[in-house]
Amino acid sequence: MNAHPAVLPRLAQLGGKEPEFHQLDIRDRAAIGGVLEAGFDAVIHFAGRKAVGESMSDPLGYWDTNVVGTMVLLAEMRRTGVRTLVFSSSATVYGNDAVAPFDESLPTAPINPYGETKLAVERMLEALARAEPEWRISSLRYFNPVGAHPSGDIGEDPNGIPDNLMPYITQVAVGRRDRLRVFGDDYDTPDGTGVRDYIHVVDLALGHMAALEYLAHNSGYRVHNLGTGRGYSVLEVITAFEKASGRPVPYDVTARREGDAAQAWADTQRAEAELAWRAERDIDAMCRDAWNWQRRNPNGFGNEP
Ligand code: UDP
Repeated sequence: MNAHPAVLPRLAQLGGKEPEFHQLDIRDRAAIGGVLEAGFDAVIHFAGRKAVGESMSDPLGYWDTNVVGTMVLLAEMRRTGVRTLVFSSSATVYGNDAVAPFDESLPTAPINPYGETKLAVERMLEALARAEPEWRISSLRYFNPVGAHPSGDIGEDPNGIPDNLMPYITQVAVGRRDRLRVFGDDYDTPDGTGVRDYIHVVDLALGHMAALEYLAHNSGYRVHNLGTGRGYSVLEVITAFEKASGRPVPYDVTARREGDAAQAWADTQRAEAELAWRAERDIDAMCRDAWNWQRRNPNGFGNEP
């Protein structure tokens, strides 16, 4: 499990209400079914493994959790009469040869087992909605979620050394790591470093609410990008973070990371038109909130009793 139990009391504090929580395995049919039997209008399905590198060394584990787990969930949703689903997909399904901005009609071509499992689930969902028209299913293709809740009470706390740029930056700024490594400055981008579409987690969360609203009026299956439509280079993110935090982020430029694309950002027109949603929080807010979280929780959730 990657999530930390210390999140729960903080959610209760932020939401003013104790969340109901069951710790179970997405592949455990009896357990999933037992929870669903309470009666639900919809499921937002976030459960899955998401580290590209790990998916290359443990492909079966990724197919098992991400694909088999979703099959179990769908079977139990069907059995208990729940037919509305929002699925966490990923911009990874576009692969590395697509030219940004990525729109939802582009061909998909994932290049690692993680992306393959996301695409496999998308295809399963599409076929299900075609076969059984009472389903209402949304796949949301996340670009690069960053930032934290503005309270600084909940945020990103990766296990071990962070794979992703923003948590690595915040851990350097707070003194937990020495220097950032910038993976390549010889890409065909304005400053040579990789360009990504970073999206504030609060905007991402609001995108899920918009998808639920969309499904209340639309049956069938639909894919939407969740991004801002703007790309930032690694060096631009470092500069924005230094400005937002007032802390230096020392870095070295190293070799490219295997499997990284030069650039990826979303075409947001479909989400704007159909979900009536757009990301509102800019890169400064993303950096400010990521830093606020890390500064107040230098060891993540680990400093909790
Ligand atoms: N990156 C980097 N150093 C790091 C982590 C990431 O230079 O320690 C770069 C990476 O090459 C990419 C961008 O930051 O261009 C975003 O990477 P991340 O892993 O956060 O997300 P990805 O787009 O790979 O899903």
